[in-house]
Amino acid sequence: CRRCMQCDAKFDFLTRKHHCRRCGKCFCDRCCSQKVPLRRMCFVDPVRQCAECALVSHKEAEFYDKQLKVLLSGATFLVTLGNSEKPETMICRLSSNQRYLFLDGHSHYEIEIVHISTVQLLTEGFPPGEKDIHAYTSLLGSQPASEGGNARATGMFLQYTVPGTEGVTQLKLTAVEDANVGRRQAVAWLVAMHKAAKLLYESRDQ
Ligand SMILES: [Zn+2]
Ligand SMILES: [Zn+2]
Repeated sequence: CRRCMQCDAKFDFLTRKHHCRRCGKCFCDRCCSQKVPLRRMCFVDPVRQCAECALVSHKEAEFYDKQLKVLLSGATFLVTLGNSEKPETMICRLSSNQRYLFLDGHSHYEIEIVHISTVQLLTEGFPPGEKDIHAYTSLLGSQPASEGGNARATGMFLQYTVPGTEGVTQLKLTAVEDANVGRRQAVAWLVAMHKAAKLLYESRDQ
């Protein structure tokens, strides 16, 4: 490439070409000046990235710092698997290798993260009239209903495939209403999981 893919400046001896370490496209110095850690690709030190990638990497860095701890420590939910009527109280957490969701109660489920196809954050509020799932934000691609309005998260709806079986399995997590500390932890967990899935989607998308 002979021109910056952002501002169209022509490369010459003065305007030098740089590659974004994330997307690999070429940019001038000004359009590719941010140095951000990119843990996903095993760079420990900050590396040069274009503005668009820097934004995504900043979000990832924030996620690794704060949200990962929340996901690893887990939280208690009422878990409804498939069409079963009876929810089971389970502790849901991310495995230490970050590849599985572990659900532990009387039963034990393991869901491989890469097999999760849908993640919807369930929130209370609108539209009125619906029973459980009041307003859910489709995770993939869209913003949560209100960033920062996390107190409204009430649960999560997951769909995933089990290798060797047909179709998708559905799983619903509901934050337990009456336990105060537990509920706060559950809401934090839901928000962290929602962000994690967004990042996963964004990186799949590239
Ligand atoms: Zn880039
Ligand atoms: Zn440029």
